[in-house]
Amino acid sequence: MSTATHSSMKLAGEQSQLVSSKRPMVIAGPCSAESEQQMLQTALGLKKVKGVSVFRAGIWKPRTRPGSFQGVGTVGLEWLRTVKQETGLRTACEVANANQTAQALQHGVDILLIGAHTTVNPFLVQEIADALKGVQVAVLVKNPVNPDLALWLGALERLHNSGVIDLGAMHRGFSTLDSAPYRNHPKWEHALELRRQVPDLAMYCDASHIAGRRSLLRPVSQRALDLGYNGLMVESHHNPAAALSDAQQQIMPQELHMLLEALKKQHTPAEKLKQNAQLEKLRKEIEYLDDELLTLLSRRTKVTAQLGDYSKPVEKSVETPDPVRWDLVLENLLHQASTAGIDQAFVKTIFQEVRSQYARTHLYNYGLSS
Ligand code: PEP
Ligand code: MN
Repeated sequence: MSTATHSSMKLAGEQSQLVSSKRPMVIAGPCSAESEQQMLQTALGLKKVKGVSVFRAGIWKPRTRPGSFQGVGTVGLEWLRTVKQETGLRTACEVANANQTAQALQHGVDILLIGAHTTVNPFLVQEIADALKGVQVAVLVKNPVNPDLALWLGALERLHNSGVIDLGAMHRGFSTLDSAPYRNHPKWEHALELRRQVPDLAMYCDASHIAGRRSLLRPVSQRALDLGYNGLMVESHHNPAAALSDAQQQIMPQELHMLLEALKKQHTPAEKLKQNAQLEKLRKEIEYLDDELLTLLSRRTKVTAQLGDYSKPVEKSVETPDPVRWDLVLENLLHQASTAGIDQAFVKTIFQEVRSQYARTHLYNYGLSS
C-alpha cells in the first residue's frame, strides 16, 4: 500500500455540495431511468424519505454484455429535469465521455458521477475533465473496477487540474475473483487510504453496488457510517422486481426509509475515525497473514505427499510416519514456540492436527488405515 504523503488538492471544503453537517447525505434513485412515470413515481416516494437529498438515475448504462438494457439516453435527462422541478430534489447521473458531460450540464444535472468503468480509463477521464474546464459542478468519482489507488487518485487529480474543486470519491467496491458475499469486494482499507491521502475529500459509499443484494445493504451502509463516510448512495425503484437493470439490489422508497432509520447515525469523533482506520489496517494484515498460512499449509501438504511416495511401506507392519522422529520435531517446535512467546499448548495442538492429517492421508493412500 502506498505511503505517499497528503495530496496537494485544494477542495471546496465547507462550500461543497457534497457534504452536509447532517451527515450522511443520501443519494437515491433507480439504477436506470426507464420511463418518465417510473422516474416520477420513484422520486415522489423518495422525496418523503427523510435524509434523501439527491435523486440519481443512470441515463447511459455501461453493461457487461451486449444485448442488456443500455439506458434510454438523452430523453432520460428531460425526465431528470422534471423530477427536479416536481420534487425539488437535486439530481445526479453518470457521464462517461465529453458528449454525455455536455448534455448533462445542459439539462442542469447537479452532481456528475464518474463510473467505475470510466475511472479505469485515463483517456476518458481526461476528456471529461477537459469538458469541465471553467464549469462549477460537483463530481463524485467512483473507484476503478480494480483496486488501484493511483488510478482513483489520478482521476481526481485530472478533474482538479481542470478547476473542479467540489470533488468527492464514491466507494463502490472492487471486482475480484472471489467477491463473496458481496457483488464487489469493499476492500475498505483502499478507500481509507485514499481519504488519508486526500483528507478533505467527501467520501461516499455506494452500498448497492458493493452489496449486490438487498440483505447486505444495511451492514455495508452501517460500516460506511462507522468509518465516517459523508454520504451513501442506495439504488431505489418504485417496483424493483420490474427494474430493467440491477433488479436484485434495488429497494422501494419505503424500504429505504426503514434502512436509514435502522442505521445508527452516531457522530464519530476524529479520534474514533483514526482508530477505525487503524483497525482496518490490522484486519487487512491478518487477512494477508491468513493467506500466507494457507499457502504454507498447501505447500506442506504437497511436500508430505512426496515424502509419502518415498517412504511407501513395503508391508503393512511398517509403521509410517516415524513417531520417534516426530517426537523430536515436536519438541524442537515447542522450544521455538516458547522462545517466540507463543503458547506451547496452542502450537502443540496445531502441529498435532497437521501431523495427524498427514498420517491419515498417508495411511489411507497405502490402504493401511484400520
Ligand atoms: C451505477 O451506479 O448504476 C453503475 C453502473 O455503477 P458502477 O460504475 O459502480 O458500476
Ligand atoms: Mn446499478
